[in-house]
Amino acid sequence: MSAQDAQAAEKDGALVCTTCPRRCRLAPGALGACGARRNAGGTIVADNYGRVTSLALDPIEKKPLARYRPGTLVVSVGSYGCNLTCPFCQNWEISQAGEKDVRWRTVMPDELVAATLEARRSRPEVAGIAYTYNEPLVGWEYVRDCAELARDAGLVNVLVSNGCFEQGVLDALDGLVDAANIDLKGFSDAFYATCGGAPRSLACARDTIERLAADPRCHLEVTTLVVPGMNDGEAEMEELAGWLAGLDGGRGRETLTHHVTRFFPRWRLTDRGPTPVADVYRLADVSRRYLDHVFVGNC
Ligand code: SF4
Repeated sequence: MSAQDAQAAEKDGALVCTTCPRRCRLAPGALGACGARRNAGGTIVADNYGRVTSLALDPIEKKPLARYRPGTLVVSVGSYGCNLTCPFCQNWEISQAGEKDVRWRTVMPDELVAATLEARRSRPEVAGIAYTYNEPLVGWEYVRDCAELARDAGLVNVLVSNGCFEQGVLDALDGLVDAANIDLKGFSDAFYATCGGAPRSLACARDTIERLAADPRCHLEVTTLVVPGMNDGEAEMEELAGWLAGLDGGRGRETLTHHVTRFFPRWRLTDRGPTPVADVYRLADVSRRYLDHVFVGNC
């Protein structure tokens, strides 16, 4: 994805960011809605490039990935910013932050890869790097640059994303992502609207999932957080899981993994309690009508 593809010039020096379906129109110097991309001197750049707010060594199962290299560890890295504003965000302190709201330190791609290789010297079960915590693809250039170096160093790359991005972003990462967990938050445009999505956000998430499911180089798992009163209907889960089953040339039932996870009150959604555990299990059973590999989380 070239800089020219990523933006379209408008009058008065404003640029339209085409990284995600929000299509922010950015006046010179302005930040996008994600808080991470800026019109800097006539080019839209990832303002959060190399700005790391979170760095931890995690079990790969925590991403969550249930069926990819179980028992290994990943160096998990996050910055700030997100192109959605889910009122129940579990990581809102960094996802909804800008550069002045949160503490960050610079970790350039070569430093991240070196740190991961160093971690692997003492913990041989370190498999690679996970791009996670905030929405990594609002700064896809950092993911790309780290992933290229990591791959050359024999490390794997794991992407944890909401998937609401234009295909050019996935083109930029083509062949670099070994495993991904993509959120599929619900199965209606209305639900994505409550998450601050654009009219095409669900379509973009579906396109991302469809593309990665069909890519033999990438192991794909999908997560749906069940929020009481918002996306906990059986009909919606039925439609969602049925769609997943039809992916990967109709082999989704066997190849895809679905995580059905429990909501806890966070950020702007504190007017209800956690998802009843019985509801999580019930909706996981609905998903199991269509998929062989369904896991519950946070229960
Ligand atoms: S990536 Fe950020 S700046 Fe670009 S369109 Fe999406 S929200 Fe706006």
